[in-house]
Amino acid sequence: MKILLMGPPGAGKGSQSAKLVKEYQLTSISTGEMFREAARNNEPLGIEAMKYIHRGDLVSDEITNEVVRKRLLESDAERCFLLDGYPRTVSQAQALDAMLLSMDSKLTAVINIVVDKEAILERMVGRRVCKKCGLTYHVSFKPPKKPGICDDCGGELYQRVDDQPESVRNRLNIYERKTKPIVDYYSGRGILKNVDGMQSFEEVYKDIINALGEVQ
Ligand code: ADP
Ligand code: AMP
Repeated sequence: MKILLMGPPGAGKGSQSAKLVKEYQLTSISTGEMFREAARNNEPLGIEAMKYIHRGDLVSDEITNEVVRKRLLESDAERCFLLDGYPRTVSQAQALDAMLLSMDSKLTAVINIVVDKEAILERMVGRRVCKKCGLTYHVSFKPPKKPGICDDCGGELYQRVDDQPESVRNRLNIYERKTKPIVDYYSGRGILKNVDGMQSFEEVYKDIINALGEVQ
């Protein structure tokens, strides 16, 4: 399975991806997470990426494509992977096609999680992430048992710098202009499935599994 999970920021890609990766033993490739990890480790890539992430802007296609190209060449990405947050521009989608073609590979499914605009801001400003294991919570929709503490590993929960209302608005704007056109790029290939992301976590997951079954 070579899956691409799409949708606006806050759609639930990370939440669903965590479950899918575990259940199907997929290699998770999240460019946002890779940038944040590089920043945590004070790597030049992370420091450069954070300049854009802070404002809610996109990191350049050049940097992002290179990060993904290297990651796809690692042995654990050979058979099964789940891409989350990449591609985010038509140019990245074209670059991904070229990378996969050169590896004699291709995507098996593109799942597009559809959510109402009004829900996004509320989801993002209420999002909390575990510093230690990266698990995602929400202050109202998925609160941890103990406030500020991860149920799974006991790590401290934090609010992402780009989940402030100002960055969120910029990210949504960019999504509309640059990322949404990718839906058209993939439609017509018979591998794109829309899933209603306005349902419960469990219902969205169930619909993703059903959609994957339809394209396999
Ligand atoms: P993305 O990776 O697409 O940006 P996340 O998976 O991080 O989105 O989800 C954004 C926020 O919305 C998180 O706080 C998450 O707990 C919450 N969330 C995700 N899916 C749902 C859902 N189906 N119902 C309610 N809240 C959700
Ligand atoms: P995410 O974790 O997917 O919400 O991504 C967080 C941030 O990382 C985005 O708002 C961008 O600044 C940056 N980023 C992640 N993926 C990409 C990408 N494919 N292209 C450009 N920037 C990205």
